[in-house]
Amino acid sequence: MTGIDWKSLPFGYYKTNYNVRCYYTNGKWSEPELSNSEFMNVHIAATGLHYGQEAFEGMKAFMGKDGKIRLFRWRDNAARMNSSARGIVMQEIPEELFYKAITMAIINNKEFVPPYGTGASLYIRPLLFGSGAEVGVKPAKEYTFVVFVTPVGPYFKEGFKPVDFQLVRDYDRAAPHGTGHIKVGGNYAASLLAIVRAHNEGYNSVVFVDSKEGIYIDECGPANFFAIKGDKYITPKSNSILPSITNKSLMKIAEEIGLKVEQRPVRVEELVEFDEVGACGTAAVISPIKKIADRSNGIVYNFCKDGKSGPVSTKLFNKLQGIQYGDEIDKYGWITFVE
Ligand SMILES: *Cc1c(COP(=O)(O)O)cnc(C)c1O
Repeated sequence: MTGIDWKSLPFGYYKTNYNVRCYYTNGKWSEPELSNSEFMNVHIAATGLHYGQEAFEGMKAFMGKDGKIRLFRWRDNAARMNSSARGIVMQEIPEELFYKAITMAIINNKEFVPPYGTGASLYIRPLLFGSGAEVGVKPAKEYTFVVFVTPVGPYFKEGFKPVDFQLVRDYDRAAPHGTGHIKVGGNYAASLLAIVRAHNEGYNSVVFVDSKEGIYIDECGPANFFAIKGDKYITPKSNSILPSITNKSLMKIAEEIGLKVEQRPVRVEELVEFDEVGACGTAAVISPIKKIADRSNGIVYNFCKDGKSGPVSTKLFNKLQGIQYGDEIDKYGWITFVE
């Protein structure tokens, strides 16, 4: 027994029993190893520390009513991690090794998978970095792949309730031909000043605009942006957006419930025309947005005027969570049972 109060779990790190590590040395990956330490020895000249050769993933496992653990769309995360690896010249991870490592981490921490009905889930964090020593700027010859898991509650402590976002124009999280489309820590480092300032100014998170022209909505700090306008699900298209698996899933569900999906550049001024807007990602699934305040000109766009999340966002959220917890039929083959 873990003694965890599942219903009040934050979205944060919680120590579990084991994590998993694999090492790429002499041209090959080692078999995954279990470790019960939260620490690792890293070479002081590792490229991951100096030159940002580091990428991560975030995915979740859910406990169903039937007591079975459901892993959501893991192949998409494996593929995206390799896309990140290619983007910053790191060694890729074979899909079977990725699967072996994540399932090993889940199975050895079974008691940390939150029970059905608590709204909590097991967050899985794969991490890949250059662990070989280099001083000149070049890719490492050695890599380390780590997987840890942590039980999490909802990302925003308000849960599925509309929150306030700040639109920022004076910081960019990613360059037009940079690394915005891959999940590397450097993008997060670049977003921290804007995020911390937004928190200090009373907002939950930020919306970044495109860094070339500054007129289109790009994405939110750690989540994609979407809007509902009449019978349309609209989400930005841009080279610097991280392709969210949650967004991709919501687009499918949107079509299923009769919405037309538009993936195209979205101008900031269009915000006045939207019925509902939200941020989407693994952590929160959907964070409905109540207000977006443009920090540079003071314009405020209001949504959810009654303080409640919009009907379409709510429906999308419930459908997707339903599939994840096994309450809805998995017609797209998104679920893998972990045994
Ligand atoms: C991880 C991430 C997302 C969300 O992607 P999901 O696959 O839905 O979790 C969105 N934006 C950024 C910048 C991210 O790093």
